[in-house]
Amino acid sequence: MLDSHFFSYSDGTLCCDEVRLDGLAEQFGTPLYVISRQSLINQFRSFEAAFAGLPHFTCYSVKANFNLSVIRTLVDEGCGCDVNSGGELFRALKAGISPDKIIMAGVGKTEQEIEYGLNSGVLLLKSESVSELKAIDRVAGRLGKKANVAIRINPNVTAETHPYITTGDSKEKFGIDEAELGEVFGLFRTLPNLSLDGLDMHIGSQIFDPEYYVAATQKLLDVLDTARLLGFDIKWFDIGGGFPVTYDPQKPATPIDRFAEKLVPMLDGRGVTVIFEPGRFIAANSSVLLTKVLYRKRNHVGKEFFIVDAGMTELIRPALYQSHHEVISVKRHEDSVTADVVGPVCESSDFFARQRMIDNVREGELLAVLSTGAYAAVMGSNYNGRLRPAEVMVDGGEAKLVRRRETYEQLVQNEV
Ligand SMILES: *Cc1c(COP(=O)(O)O)cnc(C)c1O
Repeated sequence: MLDSHFFSYSDGTLCCDEVRLDGLAEQFGTPLYVISRQSLINQFRSFEAAFAGLPHFTCYSVKANFNLSVIRTLVDEGCGCDVNSGGELFRALKAGISPDKIIMAGVGKTEQEIEYGLNSGVLLLKSESVSELKAIDRVAGRLGKKANVAIRINPNVTAETHPYITTGDSKEKFGIDEAELGEVFGLFRTLPNLSLDGLDMHIGSQIFDPEYYVAATQKLLDVLDTARLLGFDIKWFDIGGGFPVTYDPQKPATPIDRFAEKLVPMLDGRGVTVIFEPGRFIAANSSVLLTKVLYRKRNHVGKEFFIVDAGMTELIRPALYQSHHEVISVKRHEDSVTADVVGPVCESSDFFARQRMIDNVREGELLAVLSTGAYAAVMGSNYNGRLRPAEVMVDGGEAKLVRRRETYEQLVQNEV
């Protein structure tokens, strides 16, 4: 049913690691994100096993799920962190990771964020433009520091995925264009506070075909050759994240070993440490979103709606990327119906599933929206005055609250 087997039925009731989800809904309320700690650990370990043959450093992409307990779980496994903003840097540091295991990305870092990164002592600042390199130099000079920089190259490879999550194409805002590389290398000679330590790319997300990585990696290897000819001592070779997971059992993701089979031989023996930045691969299937069916209704054309208490404010992926998420009943039923599963938010795009065969649950019963560990809670909002849900982490048969449900008071606390 999922990549990870940490959510499964026992005696007709959906459980996470032997903890019944109906019990969690009763204890913590709904909507509720339920995260399996062991699933996170297993995904990280399977990633590490696939690339064991390569000198590498895996940095979890914090933006996929930035709950402190999620970050801490991975940090305890020896994972590094890839952060995209000052806020994510703050979270990673709060989770207790050593700053020299953090790499900092972001296409539009402000001077304050650059300063925060440099003062924290992050391993690498990734830069995406000539202007930003000048800003990093300026800030580093002011602080009396040398900035360790990786340049993000746009390899101009269009990976086949949803257009909103392809990032390595020339028409996207990300990375430095090939045509600009000469100028960029020149800059490192004139800007005294920068040290070019790494090359970087990230071609998109949920990429099923390893050949896109092969094509982009080849381009980055060519840049590595050029950089070395010019005398730069490149230590880090960052090929980004984007490794796929299964959302729809009809469309299983390419196993991570297929990526390793192609990439390890290409990258081995290059005298660099390869950085990976998986986010979705580690987190997506570690969590489900528990939601209660508030109402059922059927319209005059016979269309059936399940109106649930979670919505696009807790999971925007179907609205934003037309993503598929499995929706299953917490209590198994013998019979099923075809229905739309929709939320309470005032938008027609507020749905989880359309025209889906689903267990014939009654009002008041629970559904689980699967694969909500990545790009769900982190994209949550208070639209419609909705409260961000609680989050629970299950570990070894026990559930712990790792984020409290928001309150109405918190909705207005910053208004003056
Ligand atoms: C989003 C992002 C990632 C993670 O992508 P996944 O598809 O979740 O693996 C890695 N690196 C960068 C620079 C990103 O922006």
